[in-house]
Amino acid sequence: MSGIIQLLPDHIANQIAAGEVIQRPASVVKEMMENAIDAGADKIQVIIKDAGRTLIQIIDNGSGMNTTDALMCFERHATSKVRTADDLFALTTKGFRGEALASIAAIAHVVLKTKKQDAETGTAITVEGSKINTPEETICSAGTSFEVKNLFFNVPARRNFLKSDTVEFGHIRDEFERIALAHPDVTFSLQHNDSIVYQLQQGILRKRIVDILGRQSNDKLVPIEEATSIVSIRGFVGKPEFSKKSRGEQFLFVNNRFFKDSFFNHAITKAFDGLIPPKFFPSYFLYLTIDPSKIDVNVHPTKTEIKFEEDRHIYSILLSSIRQALGKYNIAPTLDFERETSFDLPLDMKHQPIVEPQIKVNPEFNPFKTTSQSSGSSSSSKGNGFSQAIRAEGFGNSTLEKSDWDAFYAIQEENATHQEELLQTTENEFQHKDFVFSGRYLLTSAEKGFYVIDAQHAYQRIIYDELMNNFITNPIASQQLLFPYEKDCSKKELDAMDSNKSLLERFGFSWTAEEQQIKLIAVPAVLQEESISDCLDGILEKTAYQTIDKGEIAHAVVLSIAAATARKKKISNNEQARQLMEQFQLSTEQLSPQGKKVIEILSLEELSNRFKY
Ligand code: ADP
Ligand code: MG
Repeated sequence: MSGIIQLLPDHIANQIAAGEVIQRPASVVKEMMENAIDAGADKIQVIIKDAGRTLIQIIDNGSGMNTTDALMCFERHATSKVRTADDLFALTTKGFRGEALASIAAIAHVVLKTKKQDAETGTAITVEGSKINTPEETICSAGTSFEVKNLFFNVPARRNFLKSDTVEFGHIRDEFERIALAHPDVTFSLQHNDSIVYQLQQGILRKRIVDILGRQSNDKLVPIEEATSIVSIRGFVGKPEFSKKSRGEQFLFVNNRFFKDSFFNHAITKAFDGLIPPKFFPSYFLYLTIDPSKIDVNVHPTKTEIKFEEDRHIYSILLSSIRQALGKYNIAPTLDFERETSFDLPLDMKHQPIVEPQIKVNPEFNPFKTTSQSSGSSSSSKGNGFSQAIRAEGFGNSTLEKSDWDAFYAIQEENATHQEELLQTTENEFQHKDFVFSGRYLLTSAEKGFYVIDAQHAYQRIIYDELMNNFITNPIASQQLLFPYEKDCSKKELDAMDSNKSLLERFGFSWTAEEQQIKLIAVPAVLQEESISDCLDGILEKTAYQTIDKGEIAHAVVLSIAAATARKKKISNNEQARQLMEQFQLSTEQLSPQGKKVIEILSLEELSNRFKY
């Protein structure tokens, strides 16, 4: 009896696999450069035309392939790097899935020329959308050259989805830099159209970093060197005063493979606790070496996420080795790490009468101006580094606690995980635009279609940022309520309010409580009266019914205020819309504080599809 289920033909299976492995030209560059490294090359040339749309060529002087292998390499699951299942647990190569070339060949025109080191002649093979043509003998130098032309020629959706050349080449450059930083012993070049972007001679690691990041970076590198039985770590972190407002200079490698890890990033950021202000990110170039059987590279098709068996230990080792190094180079102030972390206000503030706080910003304030580097000075245990700087600049009498910074970093961490997906809108893009508005949505023209903006999400982001940026340095402005807002509460809810009292007061809340009722007498000034009940519900839900870390409570409270306030905002004219978008563009984050989209692009193509019938 015949059934209806069939195996997919290879070329279709390859095209599907390609969707996962090859997302954009930069993915091809990454896979091919990795193959060249795996082939033992010490010279790798990357030639790009039109951000990879027209041509991506990678030339290496590695092992090369004989004709049989040259034919074989385009097959799916064809690899020379893994033979037995055990090999998977002892990977020393970058590739192992045997998927990249099959995927690339399914969606591009490929020309391969390759010659083994000791062979007289080489092999040339062309492939067009998985169709492999008969190999020909050719004269070429030892090693391998892959030309990938007309990427996505048969996947129009992908091709149309590509961003501008600047953006796509930016991604290529990122991949190139990551591999070049992982292999200072290899000579690399990168050429785009007619210009040479990089020409990197082999050398020591510091030189490679300086060659990529510029000469000024030489003075700012603090070496890290730590060998333990679990992991060895070497590399550099940037001195705190060179921290950046973006995460551009954060590189983590394991066994010379670039990877991303928010947990380890947290450890590294924590080592800089009190040394750099919020919204700034430390630079780092850290290379972990670890027994390959203790990591799992297999968790993500593009292999940038890696599972570590002993991640908690590695976290502590990273933290302590960086702190030590910063201390050794006389950078870290004396931090008291044993201190209990809590949001409690310092004693001397507790007994002060409640004054109506104001948001004050000192425009002259520069956290790096003061001597926050003056380590060694065995100053007191409360308030260090950046917080000292703030007090030195006369920022009122609030002392920053270490736990405040913890909270901040935890929140930053969470927000930043979404950074990868930023929409590429340029500054002030909305300044001269006209908007159409309906309910919570705004519509305006974009280069190739329309922007649709969720005004509520944009507001949330603006309010969230404003409160978050201010609450540590100054209590948030508060307003007394003419009529207290009363709400019936459970004991659990009252307890939750009580145990977060100092934090909530800092945000401008003040209340009295009876057994079954809470009476709000003051709320944050940004909160309109009609949003109070919403906001209080939000706070109660988070503090009383969800188990969240102390560090996340500030985030939860600010989120509740921002969400409740934003919900009631209305846009009713063009000026308001423009203002909203201008303010929103000042934020370094492009998503709402809950990680939801703020701007969506409605492309002309999508629109035309809708009008087809
Ligand atoms: P993987 O890297 O996972 O093995 P690929 O599809 O990337 O899978 O490559 C398939 C095989 O082709 C590799 O295992 C290797 O044997 C061969 N190969 C690919 N690129 C090169 C190269 N630049 N030089 C020599 N051999 C290569
Ligand atoms: Mg590969």
